[in-house]
Amino acid sequence: MIISMKLRSTREEIDEVCAIVRHYGYKVHSIEGEERVVIGVVGVGDVTACFESVEAMPQVDIVTRISAPYKFVSREFRKEKTRIRVDGIEIGGDEFVVMAGPCSVESEEQIMKSAEGVARAGAKILRGGAFKPRTSPYDFQGMEEEGLKLLQKAKKATGLAIITEVMSERDVEMITQYADILQVGARNMQNFMLLKALGKCGRPVLLKRGLSSTVKELLMSAEYIVAHGNAEVILCERGIRTFETVTRNTCDIAAIPALNELTHLPVILDPSHATGKRSLVPALCRAGVAIGADGLIVEAHPAPEKAVSDGAQSLDLVQFQKMMDELKPYVALWQESRKREVAAAATR
Ligand code: PEP
Ligand code: MN
Repeated sequence: MIISMKLRSTREEIDEVCAIVRHYGYKVHSIEGEERVVIGVVGVGDVTACFESVEAMPQVDIVTRISAPYKFVSREFRKEKTRIRVDGIEIGGDEFVVMAGPCSVESEEQIMKSAEGVARAGAKILRGGAFKPRTSPYDFQGMEEEGLKLLQKAKKATGLAIITEVMSERDVEMITQYADILQVGARNMQNFMLLKALGKCGRPVLLKRGLSSTVKELLMSAEYIVAHGNAEVILCERGIRTFETVTRNTCDIAAIPALNELTHLPVILDPSHATGKRSLVPALCRAGVAIGADGLIVEAHPAPEKAVSDGAQSLDLVQFQKMMDELKPYVALWQESRKREVAAAATR
């Protein structure tokens, strides 16, 4: 942080600012010019509180933050990409990982058919919500623990790993017994009690970007989980809310390479919630591969017309298979470029 004092500040005014900075645990290095004094702030302390206090002082002209407010998740902290191992699958490594399945777990038949279909097509992780964050309290809320048991059954039958959503810190321990990855939905990206609890859950976490959240806010939420003890966080772009109505959300595709510059955490794309329309999903899957995502999370359902949630954006299993087949040449190019990236990172 750099504090630029107003022109011709007095000695007392400068000392007052330095005292406040020290109060927050920092050291000061000031550069005193003829007319203006610039104070450099270094060390470790409560950066937000210090910034806000100093900014409000009348003798201060401009306060500039230098290092990112997120530390552990930043590229500065770790140059090479974090690889997260789940059940023999590596996310953020040499493979492009596809997670797929229905929006909600609805019945044994539905989840078994989904699991078999997506596994056959090459997905490695089965998705399916047992706790559903619905906009309306009258909509289907999920099968809860019964749904988790069905996911376990599907895992046994197909070997797929399981990802499922957790909505409350009260459920973390229970869901951990069934899931390989815990998903934080867009609506809970800033549920800080939940994020803190996930710091202690001992499982990788998929953190979805909030509907109206910036990339930096997403990184701050990831920082919560990591700072509370869990370094295994995967980020997910799932579209944000804009004035556009032709798609359910607006897919911020540039967020993926931007995140890849800012953080070492793996980043995946959810083309289903990003568009809300199944016809647009395959094109966005290709875009996700091309732009350097580490994987996808795609909604697929054996009978989307009968789905209790998000049917319009779910591919049926034949369409999912076709999408995965058409993705193969793109994934081959992705693998080439990932090899080059890893080699380049090793020589840096
Ligand atoms: C989901 O994955 O079904 C879901 C509810 O997603 P999001 O939190 O991104 O809306
Ligand atoms: Mn959904």
